[in-house]
Amino acid sequence: MNHIRPLPSYLVHRYHGWKATTWTENRVWYRRLADEGQRPRAMVISCCDSRVHVTSIFGADSGEFFIHRNIANLVPPYSPDGEHHGTSATVEFAVTTLKVAHIIIVGHSLCGGVKGCHDMCTGQAPELEEKSSFVGRWMDLLRPGFERVKDKPEDQRLRALEKESVLVSLENLMTFPFVREAVEADELTLHGLWTDIGAGGLEQYDPASGAFVPL
Ligand SMILES: [Zn+2]
Repeated sequence: MNHIRPLPSYLVHRYHGWKATTWTENRVWYRRLADEGQRPRAMVISCCDSRVHVTSIFGADSGEFFIHRNIANLVPPYSPDGEHHGTSATVEFAVTTLKVAHIIIVGHSLCGGVKGCHDMCTGQAPELEEKSSFVGRWMDLLRPGFERVKDKPEDQRLRALEKESVLVSLENLMTFPFVREAVEADELTLHGLWTDIGAGGLEQYDPASGAFVPL
């Protein structure tokens, strides 16, 4: 392991600043979180994109959200095949062990993963079609969404596909038996959001109209 280096100093300084202020002022709360364990009310699944910052948007504190992030906020279909399913593992733990009350899928504008899927599906990104492309094979999950938006005008297609990444995940969540059972027992609610990074906008999926509407 001699390839491992010390943490960059700017992060060390930031850590010491946090320990001296936020942690010190709230140490009773942090100890309580440690003693009592986590009881997050909601699970959030968002994109890895550094501009998507759900804890800032909702002013969330330690212990509030159980967060999973991956490229393009995708949930794969239920597939108990013995392979390594990181996203499915987090959903299973959140629903069966933590018993979260909500799962919130958060998509966003200018999503590079969604654009990659779009380019792959329109023949503009052959490198993503390689079997060895982890991003390409991950973005295969969004192909059903592309099929639903492919006939839209080009200037609307990317944004529509960003929202499809939320809808595909909401559909796939219901293929997990423990998710479906919890939803049908009214012990879990599912929510779809899309955030506009530049405008600071937030839209939620409205099942009645089948559209995303501003909050
Ligand atoms: Zn993204």
